[in-house]
Amino acid sequence: MKIKVKNPIVEIDGDEMARIIWRLIKDRLILPYLDIELKYYDLGIQNRDRTEDRITYEAAEAIRHYMVGVKCATITPNEERVKEFGLKKAWPSPNATIRAILDGTVFRKPIIVKNIPPLVKTWKKPIIIGRHAYGDIYKSVEAAVEGPAIAELKIRYDDGREKVLNIHRFDSEGVVMAIHNMENSIRSFARACIMYAIDQKVDLWFGAKDTISKTYHGRFRDIFKEEVELKRQELDEAGVKYRYMLIDDAVAQVLKSEGGMLWACMNYDGDVMSDMVATGFGSLGMMTSVLVSPDGRFEYEAAHGTVVRHYREYLKGNPTSTNSVASIFAWTGAIRKRGELDRTPEVCKFADLLERAVIETIESGIMTKDLVSLAEPRPQGYALTEEFIEKVRERLEEHLRGVGF
Ligand code: NAP
Ligand code: MG
Repeated sequence: MKIKVKNPIVEIDGDEMARIIWRLIKDRLILPYLDIELKYYDLGIQNRDRTEDRITYEAAEAIRHYMVGVKCATITPNEERVKEFGLKKAWPSPNATIRAILDGTVFRKPIIVKNIPPLVKTWKKPIIIGRHAYGDIYKSVEAAVEGPAIAELKIRYDDGREKVLNIHRFDSEGVVMAIHNMENSIRSFARACIMYAIDQKVDLWFGAKDTISKTYHGRFRDIFKEEVELKRQELDEAGVKYRYMLIDDAVAQVLKSEGGMLWACMNYDGDVMSDMVATGFGSLGMMTSVLVSPDGRFEYEAAHGTVVRHYREYLKGNPTSTNSVASIFAWTGAIRKRGELDRTPEVCKFADLLERAVIETIESGIMTKDLVSLAEPRPQGYALTEEFIEKVRERLEEHLRGVGF
């Protein structure tokens, strides 16, 4: 008897090795056990090209409608890829398109297993990073100053007012940059962070440099504070505390902590710190990612890409050992969220059991090659891509029998 899932999940397919493991996970770990309707969108690069990228917009709209999606890694084409696949053009990153449509924030969360100790000894629980993915230096205007000059910043309002600020009097060559952000975007970011902290029941930390940047960074700090006050009751009920710190203090506190918080980061800080935290926890193959919109839409995915090097080996018929854990957790994240929204605890339970099967498999010493050098004790050998999934399936079946599913 399969477990009935009341409402659909939007499934977004992708490219290369990620697509191969996607299929294996779906066929071996999901469809045999769940009676589920999947709204399927093929975002493989050829189909994006064929549909002039319309399929990406349709997938995002479907997530808006059905509330929950799960996405496989996709190629973001560059010039090389355009040649490789004979594309009409270098279509934009699907993740960026979907994020813009849902006005979402991406949260990255590591999966922790006992036999892969984090590099930082004190870390015991996941450190989740939320990165504000709009503006600052990523939407900057910059110029080289070629010689003696005055650089000014001018704001011309639609009503005719003007404000001119002196940036610097250059005596010789230099560089200059202007950055911006928007009230609405910062507010959506703060809301998505608050929503996710309540969802995960973890404290929310935010760090900026408002001692130096009193207006720009100060505005971020004030907006966070305002949005936290609006949700005070829900935060208290979930036992979630909010902490504001200077960014340098936040870095020090995170390193000394045992983890277990959501760290909200401005765009650049999130870019840098997510790589620090990901490396500190071990492998890209163990990092999940979820896009949360301020109005409660959720899209789950693995944080890694399409693992193209492994795919080239696979195409040659060589054995591969690609880590499917982050992709499996993308599925379980979406399934659990679906169960919560539908109020079907047995669906959530299935997600819990599948995650448990994955963690126990690794803790029993069965893992893919990327984890072997990180594990203590170090296992004798490693599992191939399919072998690992098969071991997880065996354990999952035991657990399902155990609870009488
Ligand atoms: P990648 O796919 O993340 O892989 C980089 C390297 O990290 C791999 O070669 C592999 O190292 C290791 N790795 C990543 N995931 C792994 C896994 N699950 N199991 C084992 N090892 C893993 O990044 P990329 O090769 O730079 O990018 C490939 C394509 O992915 C690009 O076209 C890019 O546009 C796309 N991409 C998509 C997303 C997304 O859709 N979210 C995100 C990032 C990149 P070894 O080679 O040492 O084994
Ligand atoms: Mg980065």
